[in-house]
Parts: sequence; structure tokens; C-alpha cells
Amino acid sequence: MSEKQMRLGALEAGGTKMVCAVVSGDGEVLDRMETPTLAPAETVPQMIEWFAARDVDALGIGAFGPTCVDPADERYGSILQTPKLAWRGYGLRAAFADALGIPVAYDTDVNVACLGEAVFGCCKGLKDAVYVTIGTGVGAGVMCAGRLLHGMLHPEAGHMLVRTRPTEEGRCVCPSHASCLEGLASGPAIAARWGKPAAELADNDEVWMLEGDYLGQMCANLVLMYSPHRIVLGGGVMHQEQLYGIVRKKTLEYLGGYIQTAELKDMESYICAPGCGGDQGILGAAELARRALA
Ligand code: ADP
Ligand code: ZN
Repeated sequence: MSEKQMRLGALEAGGTKMVCAVVSGDGEVLDRMETPTLAPAETVPQMIEWFAARDVDALGIGAFGPTCVDPADERYGSILQTPKLAWRGYGLRAAFADALGIPVAYDTDVNVACLGEAVFGCCKGLKDAVYVTIGTGVGAGVMCAGRLLHGMLHPEAGHMLVRTRPTEEGRCVCPSHASCLEGLASGPAIAARWGKPAAELADNDEVWMLEGDYLGQMCANLVLMYSPHRIVLGGGVMHQEQLYGIVRKKTLEYLGGYIQTAELKDMESYICAPGCGGDQGILGAAELARRALA
């Protein structure tokens, strides 16, 4: 089968919505459908029906976590300890594999978005890159030496500890942590702190200086830990484009001159917006499907 003829199924399984797509082997989105994330019994059968009617050759899934991404584990493709109780322990990959009878590949939503950027977006040709979404939650997908990083579970860098100011005492909205990035810098954290949705705070500089400070701490930590060639920042909160400049400046401040590379001399390229214009998730999922066929 030529790349162009391939019909690759892609599913971006988010905590808020599901995006299903059919993508050609060379990355053209041929068809797409979105549906809210309700309980599995309500949401999954209609997606299976949608893919079955479109004759896809393989399916790639990028799922919200925590989830099991180890093919050797019996829980492979299942959602783990999520606060969404209806999804806890649900075998998402198995549901599609059993019903469709095609190869189904599986990874985290953010790893898949990282793959999408590496193959089709702004990380083309790079073997080490990090993709971070700052939205309802904060999550990071990590590619190291050309492979998506799993480790014992998968990275959960969105919950890294960050340093707070005294005025931030008690502000972290994460149920598990007293001062983690997601609890202090996600869209819901911004809304809780300032009393209205993040999108309505565009004109308040104080909001974005604080947000940029937290994201700068994150990027500095990502540089120190993974040494990526590029960091891509996506997700709804990054629609505030003024944030990129603040995050670049804060990242360098937190690194304190300790890391000196050519990449860090060109911060506009180093910390950037997604190159797939919002399609990084489904394009990465399609790439997973293509690899499952190969
Ligand atoms: P999700 O993380 O649920 O997949 P998004 O990446 O779209 O979805 O992120 C949703 C979050 O982004 C919400 O908390 C919302 O308040 C915030 N958000 C959406 N648009 C904007 C905007 N223009 N400016 C700031 N925050 C925004
Ligand atoms: Zn947390």
C-alpha cells in the first residue's frame, strides 16, 4: 500500500472531548468528528461505529492519563487512577482492537502530540523534544533519542513541584499536591485565582507575568532534565501569545547562564508554538497507526 492510499485512524482521547480523524499516510486530514467525553458506555460505541464506517487500516490512540502504555503489561491501553471514575480501569485500546480487528497503537495524548510535532510540525528532524500542553491540565510528552519516553509509567511533568511566593499560599488547586505546576498554572488554576476564565484576563499583565514565571520554572527544569532541542508549548492557555516572550525570558533567568548552547541563543525557535496548528494530536496518533502497520 502506498503512503497516500493508507487510511489511518486517529483518536485524541482527551478528558473533555474526543477527536476522531481519518488521515492519509502523508498527513492529510480526510475526515474528522468530535464528541464530548462522557462515560465509556456512551462515548466509545459511537466512535467505534464512526471508524468502522470509514474503513481505516489501523488506529492510533493518544489518551489522557494516567494510563498504561507498556505493551508488555496486561493493562496496556487501559486508563488507570483517573479522578473520572467511569474511566478508571477502562480498557480503551482493547475496546477498539476487539471491535475493529485492526492494529491499534497507543500512547499518552501528550506523547502523541510530541510525535505529531516531530513528524509534521516544528520539531521535524529533531530527536529530542518536549511538547507541553497548558490547558485544563498541564502535561508533557517527551521524545528522547527519537523514542517517546515511557519509563516505569510515563512522565507526569505537569505535576512538577514549583517554587511559590508567599502570596500564592493555598492557591494550588491540585488535589494531590500543595504546590505543583498544574495546580498553579492550568486554565482552572488561573480561573480560581483571579475569579474569571483565563480567556477573559487577557488585559491583566499581572496574570501573565505570574503564569509566565511558573512556565519559565517548568521550561528551565525541562532543559535541565531532558536537554531537549526544542520545547513546544500548546493548549488553550497558550492562546495568550504574550506568554511566549515572558516564558522565554523567565526560562533563561531560572537557568542562570548555567547551560550554554546554540539553541538557547535563539529562544524564539527554542520555545515555540505548535507547528501543526492544533492538529498535532491527531497527526501524531495517525503516525502511531502508520508505524503499527509498517
Ligand atoms: P483541554 O486541556 O481540556 O484539552 P484546552 O487545551 O483547549 O483543552 O484548554 C482549555 C483551557 O484553556 C481552559 O481552562 C480555558 O480556560 C483555557 N483557555 C482557552 N482559551 C483561552 C484563551 N484564549 N486564553 C487563555 N486561556 C484559554
Ligand atoms: Zn499536582
